[in-house]
Amino acid sequence: MIYITTPIYYPNDRPHLGTAYTTVVADAVARYWRLKGEAVYSLTGTDEHGLKIVRAAEERGMDPQEWVDQIVERFHETWDLLDIASDDFIRTTEPRHTASVQKLLAAIHAAGDIYEARYEGPYCVSCEAYYTDEELVDGACPVHDRPVEIHAEDNYFFRLSAYGDRLLAHIEANPGFVTPETRRNEVVSFIEHGLDDISVSRAALSWGVPLPWDESHVAYVWVDALINYISAAGYLDDEARFAAQWPAWAHLVGKDIIRFHAVIWPAMLMSAGLPLPRQIATHGFLLVGGAKMSKSSANQILPSDLVPTFGPDGYRYHFLRDVSFGPDGNFSWEGMVARYNADLANDYGNLVNRVLNLAERFRDGEVPAVASEAAAEEAALRAAAAGALEALAEFEEFRTKQALEGVWRLVRAANAFMEATEPWKLAKDPATAGRLDEVLNAALESLRVAAVLTWPAMPRAAESLWSRLGLAGSPGDGPLAETGVFGTFPASRVAKGDPLFPRIETEA
Ligand SMILES: [Zn+2]
Repeated sequence: MIYITTPIYYPNDRPHLGTAYTTVVADAVARYWRLKGEAVYSLTGTDEHGLKIVRAAEERGMDPQEWVDQIVERFHETWDLLDIASDDFIRTTEPRHTASVQKLLAAIHAAGDIYEARYEGPYCVSCEAYYTDEELVDGACPVHDRPVEIHAEDNYFFRLSAYGDRLLAHIEANPGFVTPETRRNEVVSFIEHGLDDISVSRAALSWGVPLPWDESHVAYVWVDALINYISAAGYLDDEARFAAQWPAWAHLVGKDIIRFHAVIWPAMLMSAGLPLPRQIATHGFLLVGGAKMSKSSANQILPSDLVPTFGPDGYRYHFLRDVSFGPDGNFSWEGMVARYNADLANDYGNLVNRVLNLAERFRDGEVPAVASEAAAEEAALRAAAAGALEALAEFEEFRTKQALEGVWRLVRAANAFMEATEPWKLAKDPATAGRLDEVLNAALESLRVAAVLTWPAMPRAAESLWSRLGLAGSPGDGPLAETGVFGTFPASRVAKGDPLFPRIETEA
């Protein structure tokens, strides 16, 4: 079972390009595994407890539950807009989650890893996190660059300090546990520096999950949030499903939340005697003109600003093709238009249009299922298709850019095939009618394979191409080891239709 997760998002924030980036990568990788025929469970959701939610609701004279019920819709709308096909959407206010939080915290408590003590320190409400004085930058939150508040309360603490050696041993024995390597090094040095115990409860807050052994406290929102990954896997009361689904294949996270995922979360699981996720796959920030997107900055862009121009497929393709998973990435409108026009409108869209047009013009959309085994042109095409199929496995390492570069080698080879074989010339001479059939068949077969291989990144366009090709089912049906192999295009009736990716005209 491939169980893949995004972080759960704060519903106070609108789903912006950064949020959407993680979610699109998770969706494309999940689709890749489905295409291969693996059982997949993909999860996203929202993190609905904590002080920020209470304050936002109060400002509007609303009850926190009423507020989160209203704003969670933005997430459903955005994910629908981007064709995100998650298997599950978890909200931390759901009973299946709150009961799981209590179950896991009770297990950690029973293990002797919880104690009560007074805590006082700088607290950033936006992060929902305490900081040490050294971590502050000029007295402000290092993430938000805004003033912190001093909070003091009697809290329950988790003995994180007891897990440093075990965490280091796990990371050493499992080099792929935290990726990329720069992030693993950062985590290792953080642990080696010495771990402090962490507060896991809040006495002053009522909007949260009550601790099972002391209902006057609620679970700290971050501890609450991390547990979503097992709540959605059946931890509470579905042993069979939990055994099949957990540990997760990968948690996808941004670099700002790596300590929660690569230090605190595995220590909590160790304490409760549960296995650790296979991989914490960490990506960088998405920058707009070099600045991190944040709610307060003018450069915040929403997916709904871009989808009307680029479509869901153009949107997904750009971020998967142009942003490497790991380092910080940059977004620019100009770059997105250039990528769309070059790869989608020109290379791919024109190929589709040209091949289907010739099939309609010369064979009334019905090309016989005949292929040449001997022709050098087809051999080149078959080799490119095999290379593209192999490159698709880059999705397993979140190397979405390399996967799509591989697919485009097939697209370019198919364009070169058309130039080399010149079917419009073959059509003029009745003596080459047989060769024309073969050439059109190979060209259509390239489109069929391209539809399969682009489906994880661009499901809507791939499905549209599939139906133009007159094929039954979906290019996502798989299994990839069969449908991704270049062979002979089956007898069907193809239809050109409207341009798949109309060119975007930019103003001079
Ligand atoms: Zn902060």
